[in-house]
Amino acid sequence: MTSAAVDEGWVSEPPDWYDEGEPPDWYETEGAPPPPDDEPPDDGPLDVTAAPSRGSALQVLGDVWGYPGFRGDQATIIDTVVAGGDVVVLMPTGGGKSLCYQVPALVREGTGVVVSPLIALMADQVAALSALGVRAGFLNSTQGGLERSRTERALLAGELDLLYLAPERLTVPATLDLLDRARVALFAIDEAHCVSQWGHDFRPDYLRLSVLHERWPQVPRLALTATATAATRAEIVEKLNLDDAAMFVADFDRPNICYRIVPKDNPRGALLNLICTEHDGQAGIVYCLTRASVDETAAWLTTQGVAALPYHAGMDARTRAANQARFLREDGLVMVATIAFGMGIDKPDVRFVAHLDLPKSVEGYYQETGRAGRDGLPSTAWLAYGLADVVQQRRLIDAGDGDEVYKRQASRHLDAMLALCETVDCRRTQLLRYFGQDGPADGCGNCDTCLVPPQDWDGTLAAQKLLSTIVRLDRRGQRYGVGHLLDIVRGKQTPRVAQLGHDQLSTFGVGADLSEREWRAVVRQMLAARLVHVESSYSTVRLTEASGEVLRGERQVRLRREPAAQPRPKRAAQPKTQPVADGGGEPDPGLFEKLRTWRADTAREQGVPAYVVFHDSTLREIAAVRPTSLEALSQVSGVGAAKLERYGPGVVTLVEQG
Ligand code: ADP
Ligand code: ZN
Repeated sequence: MTSAAVDEGWVSEPPDWYDEGEPPDWYETEGAPPPPDDEPPDDGPLDVTAAPSRGSALQVLGDVWGYPGFRGDQATIIDTVVAGGDVVVLMPTGGGKSLCYQVPALVREGTGVVVSPLIALMADQVAALSALGVRAGFLNSTQGGLERSRTERALLAGELDLLYLAPERLTVPATLDLLDRARVALFAIDEAHCVSQWGHDFRPDYLRLSVLHERWPQVPRLALTATATAATRAEIVEKLNLDDAAMFVADFDRPNICYRIVPKDNPRGALLNLICTEHDGQAGIVYCLTRASVDETAAWLTTQGVAALPYHAGMDARTRAANQARFLREDGLVMVATIAFGMGIDKPDVRFVAHLDLPKSVEGYYQETGRAGRDGLPSTAWLAYGLADVVQQRRLIDAGDGDEVYKRQASRHLDAMLALCETVDCRRTQLLRYFGQDGPADGCGNCDTCLVPPQDWDGTLAAQKLLSTIVRLDRRGQRYGVGHLLDIVRGKQTPRVAQLGHDQLSTFGVGADLSEREWRAVVRQMLAARLVHVESSYSTVRLTEASGEVLRGERQVRLRREPAAQPRPKRAAQPKTQPVADGGGEPDPGLFEKLRTWRADTAREQGVPAYVVFHDSTLREIAAVRPTSLEALSQVSGVGAAKLERYGPGVVTLVEQG
């Protein structure tokens, strides 16, 4: 949005351009007619051959996943569930939540039932498990009847380790009856924050999941989410009846992500610059607020030579699904999307997440940016933020049709987001504090404010100049938008100024010492701090209660001065906390590229995303260690028994040739 839009009676748009609250495309419909049964039998991903040996959790981790050990609380969580206890798991995206239910599902007798809101991703999740030799399946409306009954039979025969279901399907009587006849090892409720009516991911059927506890009190349950505020946490416990569950709150830091928030000044150009100079040819997500800007931005990036695809809920379902599948399967695509995209996307090598518009809450922002760098390798979270964003978001809240409680909540969320944008302190410390955790005491060294510290300056006088202009106009019974106010303060002789006689005001030209750009930063921060208010109906600026304190000199206004240089992580600079992935020595670049090409071919042949074959971090370790025997390859993190058998000889040959 251009700044002009703020000034020219920028009337709220009809709500349908806005992605919040619309039925998500991945919504499972209860009453969907069953697909015809006369389809050809398929050889889908359901792999019901040999049961993996059930052993201790650590044994299963090594044999199946090829990982040497658990991370953080994983071991304790898994032990609790294996022993039959309920748990609530709060871990950041990429923290390793899936293993918390997948491992116990393999250790305990019976099938682990995973409740997930994302039917569009179930096939990929099952494919990833099948590649590990785990017997997994799903039941949802994308399936044909034959495939479904095949999965049901496997479940009843005890031939499934994991079964994925959407909550809408789980809570229908037929499914409940089916599960009665099966042996259930555990229930994992993924994306458990979907019980929360405050977030944008609310799914009413999550509220009905308390049935699990009533019907199968002896089966352990896990609720898992990456959303960590105390309020959401309390809601999960209450709505899912988890009062007796053990609560695990992980460290929410994502040390490999470099957080950067830049002033919105030619945002598309800045985005292109970011992509070309730091993330050329890499996968990324660009979030926009509106569907129109998603389409425009994707088209524009394409004309600039960036391989970009659009995704929003207004597109037809087929194109949307195709774009999502391409993003997951192909290397180096940029997805331009509304917030309708992203939940459950477990692509590990997303190297950057960019926001072209201000997110509505820190929770949303943290979830969205958390989709970068799940593999633990260095990644960027980049946000462009400006005056118009504050005006627009405040207006969306004011003009929205929520009740007063909702609006107050939304305002609080927005204020926290604005505070993050305007801080002169470490972004990470501020983010973690929002989630009730301590960040690094002396800054993280891997965010823009740590890399290029911004200065703060005394903006009290500037604020008084603007406020007294508003007071003088108020006395005349007049109200104006930001643009005209700044023309007066800066002493700009526009036709409108002349016509209205505003060059006669005593404040005309008192702010000529600051540029237009600097003034906009002043107004933006005053808006963020609620020192002025922009009316939702006509975009006119008015005073607030706090304005008087500033005018009377009772309150000082500290403002942030944007650093001239754009902060960029120094290549050599290591985050103070170590990223999770650690490939050992330096990978051989030639071999790494060879392995990537081999992986792309293999993935295409098998119709799965490349990361299902091996993660980047595994390929990097192989390229560093250069294993020339199956035994040596099996020591690499991410090479479990099934993958060793399937890909081992090919990889060893590649290493020997390389
Ligand atoms: P989440 O669901 O919390 O976002 P995932 O379960 O997808 O995170 O895990 C993120 C990444 O970390 C995955 O690539 C996963 O394989 C890896 N991972 C998780 N736990 C471990 C572990 N103990 N050792 C090695 N890698 C792990
Ligand atoms: Zn920092």
